[in-house]
Amino acid sequence: MNTQEAFIVCDNLVKIYRVSDHDVMALQGLDLIIRRGEMLGIVGVSGSGKSTLMNILGGLDRPSAGRLRVGGRDLLKASLADLDIYRLSTVGFVWQHSGRNLVPYLNGLENVELPLTLAGYGHRAGLRRAQELLDIVGVASRGYHYVSELSGGEQQRLAIAVALANDPQLLLADEPTGNVDEANALNIYNVFHDLNRQFNLTTLIVSHDPNLAHHVDRVVAIRDGKITSEKVWHSVDGANGEAGDDPDSLGKPGQYIHELTVLDSAGRLQIPKEYLERLNIKGRVELDMMEDGILIRPAVASNQLQTAEDLVKEMDEAHRANRFQRVINQITARFHR
Ligand code: ADP
Ligand code: MG
Repeated sequence: MNTQEAFIVCDNLVKIYRVSDHDVMALQGLDLIIRRGEMLGIVGVSGSGKSTLMNILGGLDRPSAGRLRVGGRDLLKASLADLDIYRLSTVGFVWQHSGRNLVPYLNGLENVELPLTLAGYGHRAGLRRAQELLDIVGVASRGYHYVSELSGGEQQRLAIAVALANDPQLLLADEPTGNVDEANALNIYNVFHDLNRQFNLTTLIVSHDPNLAHHVDRVVAIRDGKITSEKVWHSVDGANGEAGDDPDSLGKPGQYIHELTVLDSAGRLQIPKEYLERLNIKGRVELDMMEDGILIRPAVASNQLQTAEDLVKEMDEAHRANRFQRVINQITARFHR
């Protein structure tokens, strides 16, 4: 890591979409801090809020509540014009479908020249810069080919070159390897990795790739619009660490991947579903303070049911007692007349 500085701070971020007559809460109080120059992977099932987060971080959409700062900018308070400037000056996007990244009737070079021209580059300077960018992503020899003549992997590398045209500080890639085979995916990860290390480019990659952790510094998992866990690399102490035995340790000798559950600012955490199912934990738990941690145990289910039943009975009785009392009061009042 080049610097430990916090570049992105998401604090209790909420995004609500209004869909006809109901609200969809796509982000539900998401907390996340990303360091400048970090290469972060984001995983999560479909509908968990990954794209919503990317759109908001990219200034394409605005959060409903919470706090969001990117490079010192407050994106919640930013005006629409501010968001436009932010997006154009700071962010590069790579989408899953090349149709969203590339113009099919332009060749590779022209695709990169287009945003450069919009950014004010003259023809010669634009062409030179476009060639440079194609070189950086490894498709320099394909500059005069149309998009349809490029392979899926080449199209995505060209898309990365386009995303770099505005010289961004933040590169957002939403499932960039979703439509390419494994070899091409590896190639794309390598391009991201080189860019990240060479230019200290903060890079966020959304992916379904189970091996994502091997290509990034850290992977966070998002579920129901919140970050629930993260995987980080840990160094193995001593020469004979256990890294070799851990299938997750491939690719980074002397290090292993450690998975942590995230505790949010209100002290909430999400317990993995498998754990809950295995211990049949539902509704309530018992927390016990131990010497070196907190033990979470299933609450006794029958007790819970009884408590609920008792409560209803009690309320019934109280209601009946109340009615009787009212009748008695009326009778007593009559006698006193
Ligand atoms: P992911 O990228 O993880 O698949 P999304 O961020 O696209 O998830 O979606 C999160 C939730 O928000 C989903 O329930 C989705 O249906 C909803 N959603 C996303 N975008 C919109 C939108 N523009 N309007 C309404 N609902 C949306
Ligand atoms: Mg998505």
